[in-house]
Amino acid sequence: MRVDVLGVGFDNVTMVEAVDAAAELLRADGAHYVVTPNPEIVEVCREQPQAMAAVNGADLVLPDGVGVVKGAAMLGTPLKEKTPGIEFAGHLMERMASEGKSLYLLGAKPGVAEEAGRRLTARYPGLKLAGTHDGYFQDDGPVVEDIRRSGADCVFVCLGAPKQELWMAKNGAATGARLLCGLGGSLDVFAGRVERAPEFWSKHGLEWFYRLCKEPRRIGRMMKLPLFLVHVKQEKGRRK
Ligand code: UDP
Repeated sequence: MRVDVLGVGFDNVTMVEAVDAAAELLRADGAHYVVTPNPEIVEVCREQPQAMAAVNGADLVLPDGVGVVKGAAMLGTPLKEKTPGIEFAGHLMERMASEGKSLYLLGAKPGVAEEAGRRLTARYPGLKLAGTHDGYFQDDGPVVEDIRRSGADCVFVCLGAPKQELWMAKNGAATGARLLCGLGGSLDVFAGRVERAPEFWSKHGLEWFYRLCKEPRRIGRMMKLPLFLVHVKQEKGRRK
């Protein structure tokens, strides 16, 4: 059963369980997709019913950060741990490499997915790069066709939220891939264009603050974080 945080149902799994579940989905027939919402995305879902449906329609809904885990605890329905998308992706690629599976990278500015692909295949020997495409296209059709032709087992869809969730819900099955994972800005990190917060910050639940200092233009989006906490408090009051 999923843990409800303001309408988004999160799977209550550890990182190991999440990766095992994803590996299982990679073996199962049909298309599946994984999403990793943070508080900001939960707030977007509350405002956009289509985004909410796309997120809750995923086969695996993982809490990207400490915010959602805190929210769930405040509501009296704790989640086991945070499972950040980028770390989940790392473990999944390790698993895919050992099984000789292929990965397609979709998203980010032109050139980024290719660079990420070069680095990832070097870091995870055995992982096959099925193809890449940047995230700034008008028509879904040719991109879906390119993925289908590539025969990729898995696709990392990195178009930002909620674009990537809507894209996976709509196009996932047509790509022919078994698993699609919505991973936001991960390709920029894999390509070495953006740094992840040093461990100190993430360990103390302050990764968002580190990112804000590095990219002050995110302030508008980040104002959703306090809003999320206010909404959790209100929901807690309602549940009493
Ligand atoms: N992006 C894209 N197509 C778009 C809009 C965004 O490929 O139409 C990419 C953007 O280049 C970046 C990622 O999506 O690589 C979103 O990054 P952001 O840091 O906003 O995502 P988050 O991880 O915070 O969801």
